[in-house]
Amino acid sequence: MEKKLGVYICSGCGIGDALDLEQLSKVATDENSIPICKTHSNLCGKEGVDLIKGDMDSEGVNSIIVAACSPRVMYDVFDFEGCIVDRVNIREQVVWSQPPGDENTQMMAEDYLRMSIAKVNAMELPEPYKPEEEFSRDILVVGGGLTGLTAAIEGAKAGYNIVLVEKESELGGFQKNVKQIATFPYKDIQESDIDALINEVTQNERIKVYTGATVEKTEGGPGVFKVTIKQNGSSAEHRIGAIVMAAGWAPYEPEKLDEKYGYGASPNVITNFQFEQNFNGDKITRPSDGSPVNNVVFIQCAGQRDPDHLPYCSSVCCITSLKQAIQIKRQNPDSAVFIVFQEMRTPGQAEDLYRKAQEMGVVFIRSQSVEVKANGDLLSVEALDELLGENVLMDNLDLVVLATGMVPVSAFGPDISQEMKEEEKEAGKEEELEEIPTDIIRRSNILNLEYRQGPEPPALRYDFPDSHFICFPYETRRTGIYAAGCVRRPMGVASAQEDAAGAVMKAIQCIELTSKGAAVHPRAGDLSFPEFQMQRCTQCKRCTVECPFGAINEDEKANPLPNPTRCRRCGVCMGACPERIISFKNYSVAMIGDMAKAIEVPEEDEEKPRILVFACENDAYPALDMAGLHRMKYNAWVRVIPLRCLGSMNLIWIADALSRGIDGVLLLGCKHGDDYQCHFVKGSELANIRLGKVSETLDRLALESERVHFETVSIIDYPRIPEILDDFAKRIDEIGPNPFKGW
Ligand code: SF4
Ligand code: SF4
Repeated sequence: MEKKLGVYICSGCGIGDALDLEQLSKVATDENSIPICKTHSNLCGKEGVDLIKGDMDSEGVNSIIVAACSPRVMYDVFDFEGCIVDRVNIREQVVWSQPPGDENTQMMAEDYLRMSIAKVNAMELPEPYKPEEEFSRDILVVGGGLTGLTAAIEGAKAGYNIVLVEKESELGGFQKNVKQIATFPYKDIQESDIDALINEVTQNERIKVYTGATVEKTEGGPGVFKVTIKQNGSSAEHRIGAIVMAAGWAPYEPEKLDEKYGYGASPNVITNFQFEQNFNGDKITRPSDGSPVNNVVFIQCAGQRDPDHLPYCSSVCCITSLKQAIQIKRQNPDSAVFIVFQEMRTPGQAEDLYRKAQEMGVVFIRSQSVEVKANGDLLSVEALDELLGENVLMDNLDLVVLATGMVPVSAFGPDISQEMKEEEKEAGKEEELEEIPTDIIRRSNILNLEYRQGPEPPALRYDFPDSHFICFPYETRRTGIYAAGCVRRPMGVASAQEDAAGAVMKAIQCIELTSKGAAVHPRAGDLSFPEFQMQRCTQCKRCTVECPFGAINEDEKANPLPNPTRCRRCGVCMGACPERIISFKNYSVAMIGDMAKAIEVPEEDEEKPRILVFACENDAYPALDMAGLHRMKYNAWVRVIPLRCLGSMNLIWIADALSRGIDGVLLLGCKHGDDYQCHFVKGSELANIRLGKVSETLDRLALESERVHFETVSIIDYPRIPEILDDFAKRIDEIGPNPFKGW
């Protein structure tokens, strides 16, 4: 497309009072010979937008630079179809964070306009990716338990065809064992309605059910998944748009518990799950001889919140024990029922169930020290009662019920990540790749992905594959595959049903965005995708290994095989590629390099150092905006370039900037490590690893290593922004000017 640029500067929101807009316009008109440069007092209003649209119609403007507020606001207002649009943030990051009428404030705004012009000159309008294969809107739900059944029904109600795969011979999952449930509004326990749900699923014409079946193979990506289902020795293939992984959970093996819990010492010591299985609608009796139960102790947190067993809380056991205690009391009001707990966790209205159990005479003992003693037929529990400060003995027990926890199905199967790494070593690439953090990949046979990065979504903390972040619920590290229910985190009935609906909505979002060639969260709607100049590829494998979403496969010669519908447009591959042959139409190594080069670097004697800030657009850039929004003033030497992810950072930008006389480079990215906040999972960590190599560049230029610095920030850290920028500026001032100035 032949570009015709138009620059539009807003004077509203205090911009016109703080800046000399005539002078600013000259950056476009005089320096860059852009004939169309207009100023308006309210560019986001109808009149302002019509001004731009008028120029599109009459002047053929198709590349629009809006110098006004942050690109994080008014994005729908300044969205002109078929046009390249770039936003110059002279409101939040210039006039709201710098003193008005100041020479440095003016220089900052002018630099940002120069950088935007360089950017627009280097970019092209993205064309959405359309897969060659037939596009599917069908949703695969793996798991026919409560979550899977609910996801299937919700997806079907929304008008999507569902393929439901359950490995057991009947639907219902663990809930088939559960006669009565405790669920909202928690006033009482109720009969389970799982059979009605199963019936609804099997009767629904939009839902194709496979029982006694497994997913043998999953190829492709969102919109074009090809899923092979194995059932009774035969295989069926389905084209699938997105996947809900509701594979469920398994009980923690009680044999692994510490001896003090007495599991195995008496048949009358059982787990909460065995309670459901044994007494599914039947009379609750003593397992050893079937006699009535009169004295029962429940022990909470058996092997849970325990670093040697399950370090997490399974969230359902307190409510389950309350329900089971009520069931016993209902059966025999004279029974003595005790619940020994560390903390009772009954959030929200589940507290009502707690009260109900108390009213029915269940006795609660808070204790951090408990021991089950079994001697032949005699069963007792001794606990140090925290309230009384003394040991209490509960003897002549008929039943002890241990509240053991839930383990996601994704936790089973060997971790094959090391095996995969060994294969890399055999391929002779170990030196380059060994510093790259490896995900734990278990061969748990849920999806059997034909992905270069392993057969299942990576197991994250405690083997749950979910992202663990409130802003990305359901997301696994494989695009278009959403975890729901207890495979995502331990949860009860009500939460599992909500989860199912949420995950299937994410699957639908994914299908609809992908059908338009657009990215899903967090760059939802982005139409760009990475393009590879394969002639110069050295098959180094960096892109295929570093892509956090497993979007790039490899052929047998290690050539990258991109799957654009799996791509999240983070640019990590672009930052990884040593040959710099990966780029997006609107984001490339050259484009960011041109932006950095557009910054005017004053001579040394002007005493105006320049600091280039590469800021992650997900948290750091919004934090800078927030600082401006709160009118926090910060150093005027900084020039910010937003990056899709710090993982897309290419070291050449730092080398080029420093060799042009930029005095310091600051990277602002998300927290990495176990508690990472990086929206692209490993990007921030990879940037940090790459930064380790920057010392070579600095040595070559004979520059101080302190000129390059990495800081992690989240959006809520915005009060720290002035301090971070000012401190770095102070450090640069102390080091002195970059000797390359003026070269
Ligand atoms: S690294 Fe990011 S941009 Fe590159 S292919 Fe993977 S998801 Fe897409
Ligand atoms: S990182 Fe670049 S050179 Fe290496 S395999 Fe990927 S595309 Fe080829």
